[in-house]
Amino acid sequence: MKKLLLFDIDGTILNMKMGVSKNIFIDTFFDIYGQSISLDQMPRFSGNTDLQILNQMADAIGYDRKYIIPKLDDFWNLKLLRFKQFCTSEYIELIPGVDKLLESLKSNKEYELSLVTGNSIKNAFQKLSSYKLDRYFTDGAFGNDNSNRNLLPPIALDRVNTRVGNAIYRSENTIIIGDTNSDLLAAKTNDMKAMIIAKEEDHDTFREQKADSLMSDFSDLDQFYNEMNRIYSQ
Ligand SMILES: [Mg+2]
Repeated sequence: MKKLLLFDIDGTILNMKMGVSKNIFIDTFFDIYGQSISLDQMPRFSGNTDLQILNQMADAIGYDRKYIIPKLDDFWNLKLLRFKQFCTSEYIELIPGVDKLLESLKSNKEYELSLVTGNSIKNAFQKLSSYKLDRYFTDGAFGNDNSNRNLLPPIALDRVNTRVGNAIYRSENTIIIGDTNSDLLAAKTNDMKAMIIAKEEDHDTFREQKADSLMSDFSDLDQFYNEMNRIYSQ
């Protein structure tokens, strides 16, 4: 059975150095909406979609959410511009083994790759391009498609099925690969399997929450493929 793997980006494929993203949001929010927000007023980023972050920033300072949407394109464009200078190996590090894994999966006919991420599409590909990983992906569902992450997997599924020209992929043969509760919840909400990439010490928590597979990183390719087989033999 062919499988569709929906990869999250932050914490799953790569990590951006602490603080970079938040400061870009703060500066761009000020330039586009004229509103100041301090670092300690900023919402949590991990697992959050970009649009959710923007709405929560507005809430945090009592700025009406209705002003967010009309200038949204300006916000994304300026943020991307700022972001580009930080999309280098100096500010971004890869999760161990992910580059070899993607290379291996790309040439494996049993797997199809796509993305489900809170990043807006432009940001997503910009981040991936820092290590030339953008070449492994053509589509997915993104933070600018919907602020609710649980609604993103079906969007990605549709896009992939349209691209391959056949409704090959359904929730039964789709696996979400992510690093947070939000990824797990998005998988469970859509009856998909979830592989969670997390530190060893967090494995018990994710196991209790019924993650189908747990890995610390991708440095062992055999372990990854064994896990994939195990998920589907359960
Ligand atoms: Mg993540």
